[in-house]
Amino acid sequence: MSTSTLINPATEEVLRTVEMLDVPAVDDAVARARSAQKQWAKLAPAERGAALRSFAAVVDAHVGELAALEVANSGHVIGNAEWEAGHVRDVLQFYSASPERMSGKQIPVAGGLDVTFNEPLGVVAVIAPWNFPMTIASWGFVPALAAGNAVLVKPAEITPLTTMRLAELGLQAGLPDGLFQVLPGKGSVVGERFISHPDVRKIVFTGSTEVGVRVMAGAAQQVKRVTLELGGKSANIVFDDCDLEEAAATAPYGVFDNAGQDCCARSRILVQRNVYDRFMELLEPAVKGVVVGDPSSRDSEMGPLVSKPHFDTVASYVPDGAPIAFQGSAPSGPGYWFPPTVLTPQRTDRAVTEEIFGPVVTVLPFEGEADAIELANDSPYGLSGSIWTDNLSRAMRVSRGVESGNLSVNSHSSVRYNTPFGGFKQSGLGRELGPDAPLHFTETKNVFFKIGEL
Ligand code: NAD
Repeated sequence: MSTSTLINPATEEVLRTVEMLDVPAVDDAVARARSAQKQWAKLAPAERGAALRSFAAVVDAHVGELAALEVANSGHVIGNAEWEAGHVRDVLQFYSASPERMSGKQIPVAGGLDVTFNEPLGVVAVIAPWNFPMTIASWGFVPALAAGNAVLVKPAEITPLTTMRLAELGLQAGLPDGLFQVLPGKGSVVGERFISHPDVRKIVFTGSTEVGVRVMAGAAQQVKRVTLELGGKSANIVFDDCDLEEAAATAPYGVFDNAGQDCCARSRILVQRNVYDRFMELLEPAVKGVVVGDPSSRDSEMGPLVSKPHFDTVASYVPDGAPIAFQGSAPSGPGYWFPPTVLTPQRTDRAVTEEIFGPVVTVLPFEGEADAIELANDSPYGLSGSIWTDNLSRAMRVSRGVESGNLSVNSHSSVRYNTPFGGFKQSGLGRELGPDAPLHFTETKNVFFKIGEL
Protein backbone atom coordinates (compact mmCIF):
# COMPACT_ATOMS: atom_id res chain seq x y z
CA MET A 1 0.00 0.00 0.00
CA SER A 2 1.19 3.53 -0.72
CA THR A 3 0.87 6.52 1.59
CA SER A 4 0.02 10.18 1.20
CA THR A 5 2.03 12.73 3.19
CA LEU A 6 -0.22 15.53 4.37
CA ILE A 7 1.28 19.02 4.57
CA ASN A 8 -0.14 21.95 6.53
CA PRO A 9 -0.44 24.53 3.71
CA ALA A 10 0.00 27.49 6.07
CA THR A 11 3.33 26.27 7.50
CA GLU A 12 4.58 23.61 5.04
CA GLU A 13 5.05 21.28 8.04
CA VAL A 14 4.24 17.59 7.69
CA LEU A 15 0.98 16.81 9.50
CA ARG A 16 0.96 13.04 9.14
CA THR A 17 0.89 10.26 6.57
CA VAL A 18 -2.22 8.37 5.56
CA GLU A 19 -2.39 4.92 3.99
CA MET A 20 -3.83 4.86 0.47
CA LEU A 21 -6.02 1.81 -0.05
CA ASP A 22 -5.57 -0.69 -2.87
CA VAL A 23 -8.11 -2.48 -5.07
CA PRO A 24 -8.60 -5.57 -2.82
CA ALA A 25 -9.34 -3.23 0.11
CA VAL A 26 -12.00 -1.47 -1.98
CA ASP A 27 -13.55 -4.79 -2.99
CA ASP A 28 -13.69 -5.83 0.65
CA ALA A 29 -15.35 -2.51 1.58
CA VAL A 30 -17.95 -2.92 -1.18
CA ALA A 31 -18.81 -6.41 0.07
CA ARG A 32 -19.25 -5.14 3.65
CA ALA A 33 -21.31 -2.19 2.40
CA ARG A 34 -23.60 -4.53 0.43
CA SER A 35 -24.51 -6.60 3.45
CA ALA A 36 -24.89 -3.53 5.71
CA GLN A 37 -27.19 -1.90 3.15
CA LYS A 38 -29.59 -4.83 3.14
CA GLN A 39 -30.09 -4.50 6.90
CA TRP A 40 -30.31 -0.69 6.74
CA ALA A 41 -33.01 -0.74 4.06
CA LYS A 42 -35.09 -3.14 6.17
CA LEU A 43 -35.20 -0.76 9.14
CA ALA A 44 -38.37 1.22 9.67
CA PRO A 45 -38.09 4.68 8.08
CA ALA A 46 -38.38 6.31 11.52
CA GLU A 47 -35.41 4.25 12.75
CA ARG A 48 -33.25 5.40 9.84
CA GLY A 49 -34.29 8.98 10.55
CA ALA A 50 -33.40 8.60 14.23
CA ALA A 51 -29.97 7.18 13.32
CA LEU A 52 -29.23 10.21 11.15
CA ARG A 53 -30.33 12.55 13.95
CA SER A 54 -27.94 10.75 16.34
CA PHE A 55 -25.16 11.21 13.77
CA ALA A 56 -26.02 14.92 13.58
CA ALA A 57 -25.80 15.21 17.37
CA VAL A 58 -22.36 13.56 17.47
CA VAL A 59 -21.10 15.84 14.68
CA ASP A 60 -22.47 18.82 16.60
CA ALA A 61 -20.45 17.77 19.65
CA HIS A 62 -17.30 17.65 17.49
CA VAL A 63 -17.64 20.85 15.42
CA GLY A 64 -14.57 22.39 17.06
CA GLU A 65 -12.42 19.31 16.52
CA LEU A 66 -13.48 18.90 12.87
CA ALA A 67 -12.87 22.60 12.21
CA ALA A 68 -9.37 22.47 13.73
CA LEU A 69 -8.55 19.45 11.54
CA GLU A 70 -9.67 21.33 8.41
CA VAL A 71 -7.62 24.38 9.37
CA ALA A 72 -4.51 22.19 9.68
CA ASN A 73 -5.12 19.95 6.66
CA SER A 74 -6.62 22.43 4.17
CA GLY A 75 -5.68 25.90 5.43
CA HIS A 76 -9.31 27.01 5.73
CA VAL A 77 -9.80 30.00 8.03
CA ILE A 78 -11.28 28.93 11.34
CA GLY A 79 -14.61 30.74 10.92
CA ASN A 80 -15.21 29.00 7.59
CA ALA A 81 -14.10 25.61 8.93
CA GLU A 82 -16.56 25.89 11.81
CA TRP A 83 -19.32 26.79 9.38
CA GLU A 84 -18.42 23.74 7.26
CA ALA A 85 -18.59 21.31 10.21
CA GLY A 86 -21.88 22.88 11.31
CA HIS A 87 -23.15 22.54 7.76
CA VAL A 88 -22.51 18.77 7.84
CA ARG A 89 -24.59 18.61 11.03
CA ASP A 90 -27.37 20.63 9.38
CA VAL A 91 -27.37 18.43 6.27
CA LEU A 92 -27.72 15.35 8.50
CA GLN A 93 -30.52 17.02 10.44
CA PHE A 94 -32.37 18.11 7.28
CA TYR A 95 -32.28 14.70 5.57
CA SER A 96 -33.07 12.80 8.77
CA ALA A 97 -36.68 13.74 7.97
CA SER A 98 -36.50 12.20 4.49
CA PRO A 99 -36.89 8.46 5.22
CA GLU A 100 -40.40 9.09 6.54
CA ARG A 101 -41.33 11.37 3.65
CA MET A 102 -40.38 9.22 0.62
CA SER A 103 -43.97 8.37 -0.01
CA GLY A 104 -44.10 7.39 -3.68
CA LYS A 105 -47.31 7.87 -5.68
CA GLN A 106 -50.67 6.26 -6.17
CA ILE A 107 -51.66 6.74 -9.81
CA PRO A 108 -55.25 6.35 -11.07
CA VAL A 109 -55.42 3.55 -13.68
CA ALA A 110 -58.14 1.27 -15.02
CA GLY A 111 -58.66 -2.20 -13.52
CA GLY A 112 -56.54 -1.95 -10.40
CA LEU A 113 -54.26 -0.05 -8.11
CA ASP A 114 -50.98 1.46 -9.31
CA VAL A 115 -48.30 2.57 -6.87
CA THR A 116 -44.67 3.62 -7.11
CA PHE A 117 -41.89 2.77 -4.67
CA ASN A 118 -38.59 4.63 -4.29
CA GLU A 119 -36.16 1.71 -4.03
CA PRO A 120 -32.60 2.37 -2.82
CA LEU A 121 -29.86 1.78 -5.39
CA GLY A 122 -27.67 -0.33 -3.06
CA VAL A 123 -24.05 0.81 -2.69
CA VAL A 124 -23.27 4.40 -3.70
CA ALA A 125 -19.75 5.84 -4.04
CA VAL A 126 -18.81 9.49 -3.48
CA ILE A 127 -15.56 10.85 -4.95
CA ALA A 128 -14.77 14.19 -3.30
CA PRO A 129 -12.41 17.08 -4.13
CA TRP A 130 -9.99 18.85 -1.79
CA ASN A 131 -11.58 22.30 -1.69
CA PHE A 132 -14.47 21.67 0.73
CA PRO A 133 -13.69 18.13 1.92
CA MET A 134 -16.36 17.39 4.51
CA THR A 135 -19.22 19.56 3.23
CA ILE A 136 -19.11 18.24 -0.32
CA ALA A 137 -18.81 14.63 0.90
CA SER A 138 -21.91 15.19 3.06
CA TRP A 139 -23.99 16.41 0.08
CA GLY A 140 -23.57 12.92 -1.35
CA PHE A 141 -23.44 10.56 1.60
CA VAL A 142 -26.27 12.04 3.70
CA PRO A 143 -29.16 11.94 1.19
CA ALA A 144 -27.88 8.57 -0.09
CA LEU A 145 -28.03 7.11 3.43
CA ALA A 146 -31.45 8.69 3.98
CA ALA A 147 -32.74 6.91 0.87
CA GLY A 148 -31.63 3.52 2.24
CA ASN A 149 -28.23 3.09 0.58
CA ALA A 150 -24.77 2.23 1.91
CA VAL A 151 -22.08 4.77 1.02
CA LEU A 152 -18.34 4.65 0.34
CA VAL A 153 -16.51 7.99 0.23
CA LYS A 154 -13.11 8.58 -1.33
CA PRO A 155 -11.69 11.87 -0.11
CA ALA A 156 -9.07 13.75 -2.13
CA GLU A 157 -5.54 12.42 -1.55
CA ILE A 158 -4.33 15.60 0.17
CA THR A 159 -7.34 16.40 2.40
CA PRO A 160 -8.75 13.17 3.86
CA LEU A 161 -8.69 13.94 7.60
CA THR A 162 -12.11 15.46 8.31
CA THR A 163 -13.93 12.91 6.16
CA MET A 164 -12.08 10.04 7.87
CA ARG A 165 -13.09 11.50 11.23
CA LEU A 166 -16.74 11.69 10.08
CA ALA A 167 -16.70 7.93 9.45
CA GLU A 168 -15.55 7.36 13.04
CA LEU A 169 -18.25 9.72 14.34
CA GLY A 170 -20.88 7.83 12.34
CA LEU A 171 -19.89 4.59 14.06
CA GLN A 172 -19.87 6.35 17.42
CA ALA A 173 -23.42 7.53 16.69
CA GLY A 174 -24.49 3.93 16.13
CA LEU A 175 -24.57 3.59 12.35
CA PRO A 176 -24.25 -0.11 11.40
CA ASP A 177 -20.71 -1.30 10.69
CA GLY A 178 -19.90 -1.10 6.97
CA LEU A 179 -22.80 1.21 6.09
CA PHE A 180 -20.76 4.41 5.78
CA GLN A 181 -17.07 3.91 5.04
CA VAL A 182 -14.37 6.39 4.09
CA LEU A 183 -11.65 4.95 1.86
CA PRO A 184 -8.60 7.20 1.47
CA GLY A 185 -6.84 6.45 -1.77
CA LYS A 186 -5.73 7.60 -5.17
CA GLY A 187 -8.23 8.57 -7.85
CA SER A 188 -6.50 6.21 -10.26
CA VAL A 189 -6.92 3.28 -7.81
CA VAL A 190 -9.87 3.70 -5.43
CA GLY A 191 -11.79 6.10 -7.70
CA GLU A 192 -11.34 3.92 -10.78
CA ARG A 193 -12.37 0.80 -8.83
CA PHE A 194 -15.60 2.50 -7.74
CA ILE A 195 -16.32 3.08 -11.41
CA SER A 196 -15.51 -0.48 -12.54
CA HIS A 197 -17.02 -2.40 -9.59
CA PRO A 198 -20.39 -3.86 -10.65
CA ASP A 199 -21.87 -3.62 -7.14
CA VAL A 200 -21.33 0.15 -6.95
CA ARG A 201 -24.57 1.45 -8.46
CA LYS A 202 -23.98 5.19 -8.52
CA ILE A 203 -21.01 7.57 -8.51
CA VAL A 204 -21.31 11.07 -7.09
CA PHE A 205 -18.26 12.88 -8.40
CA THR A 206 -17.19 16.41 -7.53
CA GLY A 207 -13.98 17.69 -9.05
CA SER A 208 -12.51 18.97 -12.27
CA THR A 209 -14.39 18.77 -15.56
CA GLU A 210 -11.43 16.85 -17.04
CA VAL A 211 -11.71 13.98 -14.53
CA GLY A 212 -15.52 14.22 -14.55
CA VAL A 213 -15.55 13.42 -18.27
CA ARG A 214 -13.49 10.26 -17.54
CA VAL A 215 -15.82 9.26 -14.71
CA MET A 216 -18.86 9.63 -16.96
CA ALA A 217 -17.24 7.67 -19.81
CA GLY A 218 -16.20 4.87 -17.42
CA ALA A 219 -19.62 4.73 -15.76
CA ALA A 220 -21.27 4.42 -19.17
CA GLN A 221 -19.77 0.91 -19.54
CA GLN A 222 -22.22 -0.35 -16.91
CA VAL A 223 -24.90 2.33 -17.41
CA LYS A 224 -23.94 3.36 -13.89
CA ARG A 225 -25.76 6.40 -12.53
CA VAL A 226 -23.68 9.54 -12.07
CA THR A 227 -24.03 12.93 -10.52
CA LEU A 228 -21.26 15.30 -11.60
CA GLU A 229 -20.38 18.60 -9.91
CA LEU A 230 -17.55 20.10 -11.94
CA GLY A 231 -15.73 23.33 -12.61
CA GLY A 232 -16.98 26.89 -12.86
CA LYS A 233 -16.11 30.34 -14.13
CA SER A 234 -18.98 32.33 -12.78
CA ALA A 235 -19.90 35.92 -13.56
CA ASN A 236 -20.65 38.71 -11.12
CA ILE A 237 -22.66 41.16 -13.25
CA VAL A 238 -22.78 44.73 -11.96
CA PHE A 239 -25.34 47.08 -13.57
CA ASP A 240 -25.24 50.87 -13.29
CA ASP A 241 -28.50 51.02 -11.32
CA CYS A 242 -27.32 48.91 -8.36
CA ASP A 243 -25.93 49.91 -4.99
CA LEU A 244 -22.40 50.21 -6.38
CA GLU A 245 -20.79 50.64 -2.95
CA GLU A 246 -22.24 47.36 -1.74
CA ALA A 247 -21.45 45.55 -4.99
CA ALA A 248 -17.81 46.61 -4.75
CA ALA A 249 -17.49 45.95 -1.02
CA THR A 250 -18.81 42.38 -1.37
CA ALA A 251 -17.19 41.44 -4.71
CA PRO A 252 -13.89 40.28 -3.07
CA TYR A 253 -15.77 37.90 -0.79
CA GLY A 254 -17.70 36.50 -3.79
CA VAL A 255 -14.42 35.29 -5.30
CA PHE A 256 -11.68 35.20 -2.66
CA ASP A 257 -13.55 33.14 -0.07
CA ASN A 258 -11.57 29.92 0.60
CA ALA A 259 -8.70 31.61 -1.30
CA GLY A 260 -10.78 31.38 -4.49
CA GLN A 261 -10.76 27.57 -4.27
CA ASP A 262 -14.50 27.51 -4.67
CA CYS A 263 -16.35 26.11 -7.66
CA CYS A 264 -18.88 28.95 -7.22
CA ALA A 265 -16.25 31.71 -7.13
CA ARG A 266 -17.47 34.77 -9.04
CA SER A 267 -14.15 34.95 -10.85
CA ARG A 268 -15.32 37.18 -13.72
CA ILE A 269 -16.60 40.57 -12.62
CA LEU A 270 -18.55 42.21 -15.46
CA VAL A 271 -19.25 45.91 -14.97
CA GLN A 272 -21.46 48.23 -17.03
CA ARG A 273 -19.07 50.56 -18.82
CA ASN A 274 -20.55 53.86 -17.56
CA VAL A 275 -19.83 52.89 -13.93
CA TYR A 276 -16.64 50.88 -14.55
CA ASP A 277 -14.17 53.54 -13.35
CA ARG A 278 -16.14 54.31 -10.21
CA PHE A 279 -16.51 50.57 -9.46
CA MET A 280 -12.75 50.03 -9.76
CA GLU A 281 -12.12 52.97 -7.38
CA LEU A 282 -14.41 51.31 -4.84
CA LEU A 283 -13.06 47.79 -5.46
CA GLU A 284 -9.42 48.64 -4.76
CA PRO A 285 -9.75 49.37 -1.01
CA ALA A 286 -12.12 46.41 -0.64
CA VAL A 287 -9.54 44.03 -2.15
CA LYS A 288 -6.69 45.55 -0.16
CA GLY A 289 -8.80 45.20 2.99
CA VAL A 290 -9.12 41.41 2.74
CA VAL A 291 -7.21 40.03 5.75
CA VAL A 292 -4.94 37.22 4.53
CA GLY A 293 -3.10 35.30 7.23
CA ASP A 294 -2.84 32.49 9.76
CA PRO A 295 -6.00 30.43 9.19
CA SER A 296 -6.29 29.59 12.89
CA SER A 297 -6.62 33.31 13.73
CA ARG A 298 -10.16 34.63 13.97
CA ASP A 299 -9.05 37.87 12.29
CA SER A 300 -8.08 36.09 9.07
CA GLU A 301 -10.52 36.18 6.16
CA MET A 302 -8.38 34.22 3.70
CA GLY A 303 -5.79 31.50 4.18
CA PRO A 304 -3.16 29.91 1.92
CA LEU A 305 -3.64 27.83 -1.22
CA VAL A 306 -3.94 24.13 -0.54
CA SER A 307 -0.63 22.85 -1.97
CA LYS A 308 2.56 23.81 -3.77
CA PRO A 309 1.46 22.31 -7.14
CA HIS A 310 -1.80 24.25 -6.90
CA PHE A 311 0.11 27.44 -5.99
CA ASP A 312 2.21 27.02 -9.16
CA THR A 313 -0.92 26.56 -11.29
CA VAL A 314 -2.55 29.70 -9.88
CA ALA A 315 0.69 31.69 -10.26
CA SER A 316 0.86 30.74 -13.95
CA TYR A 317 -2.19 32.97 -14.56
CA VAL A 318 -0.32 36.02 -13.25
CA PRO A 319 2.97 35.99 -15.22
CA ASP A 320 5.34 38.95 -15.39
CA GLY A 321 3.61 41.68 -17.38
CA ALA A 322 0.10 40.45 -16.51
CA PRO A 323 -2.49 43.28 -16.56
CA ILE A 324 -2.68 43.63 -12.77
CA ALA A 325 -5.04 46.43 -11.70
CA PHE A 326 -4.20 45.98 -8.00
CA GLN A 327 -3.37 43.29 -5.46
CA GLY A 328 -3.99 42.76 -1.78
CA SER A 329 -1.38 41.48 0.62
CA ALA A 330 -0.26 38.03 1.75
CA PRO A 331 2.22 36.80 4.36
CA SER A 332 5.77 36.00 3.29
CA GLY A 333 7.73 33.02 4.56
CA PRO A 334 6.55 29.43 4.66
CA GLY A 335 3.09 28.55 3.34
CA TYR A 336 1.42 28.69 -0.07
CA TRP A 337 0.30 32.32 0.15
CA PHE A 338 -1.08 34.15 -2.85
CA PRO A 339 -2.40 37.71 -2.60
CA PRO A 340 -5.90 38.63 -3.79
CA THR A 341 -5.28 39.77 -7.36
CA VAL A 342 -7.41 41.80 -9.78
CA LEU A 343 -6.66 41.56 -13.51
CA THR A 344 -8.06 43.63 -16.38
CA PRO A 345 -7.26 41.49 -19.45
CA GLN A 346 -8.86 41.15 -22.88
CA ARG A 347 -12.05 39.08 -23.20
CA THR A 348 -10.14 36.21 -24.83
CA ASP A 349 -7.30 35.96 -22.27
CA ARG A 350 -6.94 32.54 -20.60
CA ALA A 351 -7.36 34.21 -17.20
CA VAL A 352 -10.88 35.11 -18.39
CA THR A 353 -11.78 31.81 -20.03
CA GLU A 354 -10.19 29.15 -17.74
CA GLU A 355 -11.02 28.21 -14.16
CA ILE A 356 -8.09 29.44 -12.03
CA PHE A 357 -9.39 28.20 -8.66
CA GLY A 358 -7.35 30.75 -6.74
CA PRO A 359 -7.62 34.37 -5.53
CA VAL A 360 -7.44 35.89 -9.01
CA VAL A 361 -10.37 37.77 -10.52
CA THR A 362 -10.77 39.44 -13.91
CA VAL A 363 -12.83 42.59 -14.45
CA LEU A 364 -14.33 43.36 -17.85
CA PRO A 365 -16.60 46.23 -18.96
CA PHE A 366 -19.87 45.56 -20.85
CA GLU A 367 -22.27 47.78 -22.78
CA GLY A 368 -25.81 46.78 -21.82
CA GLU A 369 -28.07 43.90 -20.80
CA ALA A 370 -27.65 41.85 -23.99
CA ASP A 371 -23.87 42.21 -23.95
CA ALA A 372 -23.76 41.26 -20.24
CA ILE A 373 -25.75 38.06 -20.84
CA GLU A 374 -23.66 37.14 -23.90
CA LEU A 375 -20.43 37.69 -22.00
CA ALA A 376 -21.64 35.76 -18.95
CA ASN A 377 -22.65 32.83 -21.17
CA ASP A 378 -19.41 32.87 -23.18
CA SER A 379 -18.01 29.94 -21.17
CA PRO A 380 -18.26 26.15 -21.26
CA TYR A 381 -19.21 26.37 -17.57
CA GLY A 382 -22.49 27.41 -15.93
CA LEU A 383 -22.43 26.85 -12.21
CA SER A 384 -23.12 30.04 -10.32
CA GLY A 385 -23.25 33.82 -10.61
CA SER A 386 -24.52 37.10 -9.22
CA ILE A 387 -26.55 39.96 -10.66
CA TRP A 388 -26.46 43.42 -9.11
CA THR A 389 -29.34 45.70 -10.07
CA ASP A 390 -32.16 47.59 -8.39
CA ASN A 391 -34.42 47.06 -11.41
CA LEU A 392 -36.68 44.06 -10.75
CA SER A 393 -37.57 43.48 -14.40
CA ARG A 394 -33.91 43.54 -15.37
CA ALA A 395 -33.07 41.14 -12.54
CA MET A 396 -35.73 38.76 -13.86
CA ARG A 397 -34.64 39.06 -17.51
CA VAL A 398 -30.95 38.60 -16.77
CA SER A 399 -31.39 35.76 -14.28
CA ARG A 400 -33.48 33.88 -16.86
CA GLY A 401 -30.92 34.68 -19.57
CA VAL A 402 -27.77 33.52 -17.78
CA GLU A 403 -27.07 29.80 -18.35
CA SER A 404 -26.22 28.81 -14.81
CA GLY A 405 -27.59 26.54 -12.10
CA ASN A 406 -27.31 28.88 -9.09
CA LEU A 407 -27.77 32.62 -9.27
CA SER A 408 -28.15 35.27 -6.62
CA VAL A 409 -29.46 38.79 -7.07
CA ASN A 410 -27.78 41.51 -4.97
CA SER A 411 -25.76 38.96 -2.97
CA HIS A 412 -23.29 36.11 -3.52
CA SER A 413 -25.20 33.36 -1.83
CA SER A 414 -25.10 29.93 -3.53
CA VAL A 415 -25.33 26.94 -1.29
CA ARG A 416 -28.14 26.16 1.10
CA TYR A 417 -28.82 22.57 2.05
CA ASN A 418 -32.55 23.02 1.43
CA THR A 419 -32.29 24.34 -2.15
CA PRO A 420 -31.02 22.47 -5.23
CA PHE A 421 -27.41 22.94 -6.30
CA GLY A 422 -25.66 22.01 -9.54
CA GLY A 423 -24.41 23.18 -12.90
CA PHE A 424 -25.49 23.86 -16.47
CA LYS A 425 -23.29 22.84 -19.42
CA GLN A 426 -19.85 21.47 -18.46
CA SER A 427 -20.29 22.44 -14.81
CA GLY A 428 -22.08 19.19 -14.16
CA LEU A 429 -24.94 16.79 -14.46
CA GLY A 430 -27.76 16.36 -11.97
CA ARG A 431 -28.47 18.27 -8.78
CA GLU A 432 -27.49 17.87 -5.14
CA LEU A 433 -29.16 19.19 -1.99
CA GLY A 434 -32.72 20.53 -1.82
CA PRO A 435 -35.81 18.54 -0.90
CA ASP A 436 -35.46 16.02 -3.79
CA ALA A 437 -31.85 14.90 -3.25
CA PRO A 438 -32.70 11.51 -1.67
CA LEU A 439 -34.79 10.64 -4.75
CA HIS A 440 -31.61 10.83 -6.82
CA PHE A 441 -30.37 7.80 -4.87
CA THR A 442 -33.39 5.65 -5.71
CA GLU A 443 -34.96 3.84 -8.64
CA THR A 444 -38.66 4.34 -9.22
CA LYS A 445 -40.47 1.01 -9.19
CA ASN A 446 -44.01 0.92 -10.56
CA VAL A 447 -46.33 -1.89 -9.38
CA PHE A 448 -49.81 -2.56 -10.75
CA PHE A 449 -52.21 -4.66 -8.63
CA LYS A 450 -55.10 -6.10 -10.63
CA ILE A 451 -58.37 -5.77 -8.75
CA GLY A 452 -61.57 -7.64 -9.62
CA GLU A 453 -64.88 -5.90 -10.41
CA LEU A 454 -66.49 -4.19 -7.42
P1 NAD B 1 -9.89 16.51 -9.32
O1 NAD B 1 -10.77 16.28 -10.49
O2 NAD B 1 -8.43 16.54 -9.56
O3 NAD B 1 -10.13 15.40 -8.20
C1 NAD B 1 -11.41 15.18 -7.64
C2 NAD B 1 -11.44 13.77 -7.07
O4 NAD B 1 -11.36 12.83 -8.14
C3 NAD B 1 -10.28 13.43 -6.13
O5 NAD B 1 -10.78 12.66 -5.05
C4 NAD B 1 -9.37 12.60 -7.02
O6 NAD B 1 -8.58 11.69 -6.28
C5 NAD B 1 -10.39 11.86 -7.86
N1 NAD B 1 -9.86 11.31 -9.13
C6 NAD B 1 -8.78 11.72 -9.83
N2 NAD B 1 -8.61 10.95 -10.92
C7 NAD B 1 -9.62 10.05 -10.92
C8 NAD B 1 -9.99 8.99 -11.79
N3 NAD B 1 -9.29 8.70 -12.88
N4 NAD B 1 -11.08 8.25 -11.47
C9 NAD B 1 -11.81 8.53 -10.37
N5 NAD B 1 -11.50 9.51 -9.50
C10 NAD B 1 -10.42 10.28 -9.78
O7 NAD B 1 -10.44 17.86 -8.67
P2 NAD B 1 -9.81 18.67 -7.44
O8 NAD B 1 -8.58 19.35 -7.94
O9 NAD B 1 -9.75 17.81 -6.23
O10 NAD B 1 -10.97 19.75 -7.18
C11 NAD B 1 -11.03 20.96 -7.84
C12 NAD B 1 -12.08 20.95 -8.92
O11 NAD B 1 -13.33 20.56 -8.36
C13 NAD B 1 -12.33 22.30 -9.53
O12 NAD B 1 -12.46 22.17 -10.92
C14 NAD B 1 -13.67 22.73 -8.95
O13 NAD B 1 -14.40 23.64 -9.72
C15 NAD B 1 -14.36 21.43 -8.81
N6 NAD B 1 -15.42 21.52 -7.82
C16 NAD B 1 -16.74 21.53 -8.24
C17 NAD B 1 -17.76 21.66 -7.31
C18 NAD B 1 -19.20 21.67 -7.74
O14 NAD B 1 -20.06 21.47 -6.88
N7 NAD B 1 -19.51 21.89 -9.00
C19 NAD B 1 -17.45 21.77 -5.97
C20 NAD B 1 -16.12 21.75 -5.59
C21 NAD B 1 -15.12 21.62 -6.52
